Amino acid sequence: TSYGFTPVDEGEKQQLVNDVFHRVAKRYDVMNDVMSGGLHRAWKDAMVAALNPPRKPGWRFLDVAGGTGDVAFRIVEASSRQASGVVLDINGSMLAVGAERAGKRRLADNLEFVEANAENLPFPDNSFDAYTIAFGIRNVPDIDKALAEASRVLRRGGRFLCLEFSEVQMPILDKVYEAWSFHGIPRLGQAIAGDGEPYRYLVESIRKFPSQPDFAAMIRRAGFARVGWTDYTGGIAALHSGWKI
Ligand code: SAM
Repeated sequence: TSYGFTPVDEGEKQQLVNDVFHRVAKRYDVMNDVMSGGLHRAWKDAMVAALNPPRKPGWRFLDVAGGTGDVAFRIVEASSRQASGVVLDINGSMLAVGAERAGKRRLADNLEFVEANAENLPFPDNSFDAYTIAFGIRNVPDIDKALAEASRVLRRGGRFLCLEFSEVQMPILDKVYEAWSFHGIPRLGQAIAGDGEPYRYLVESIRKFPSQPDFAAMIRRAGFARVGWTDYTGGIAALHSGWKI
């Protein structure tokens, strides 16, 4: 099906993504709840439960495309506030909202906010115990490069976890979901953020993202071991997991 979407090159793609998140940063958390019907909260909770961070100091994580901090906050809380980490995002507006929220939650001592590109992480090799990325990787123009960087900055034995919209595995639900994403989400974007076009782009990026097994193969090709995934809500989202060995 064609939805009147014009393909863009990688540089343009990143620019489009940046424009979207600069525009929505302040409303991002509300939009997230509205567009996913609050489901993103349950998915993020499940992701952090799978990570199961140790309740001891010294354990460090990197949350890439961390935006307004949702995943990082959950990780720190799950570790009984022992873990420390970096919230990395290419977008300063999203990070500014995140840093403010971290302050309000008294999590500022545990977290650092770093503006950088997932394709070029400003950290030495073997720096982190875990790498997480939620609803971010489909926005990165060169996914293989981001995966290679994930592997580089993880220590041996480190965990890679990626939560992303995925391929719906249930009949009927796939049709409902498609109707919602192609018609509902852009209209909501129009109503709440005043512009439907960026949301049309984001929905298209979900449709183009590789299926669960294809994405797992990419993670394996980046050198990760014991790669697998878990579908959430019939595959609307999926959590991919791997280990650096
Ligand atoms: N992880 C957060 C969450 O789940 O609520 C935010 C997800 S938001 C849908 C996607 C984020 O990816 C945005 O904050 C955007 O700025 C960031 N992003 C897009 N391209 C990126 C890149 N190349 N490197 C790092 N972050 C990127």
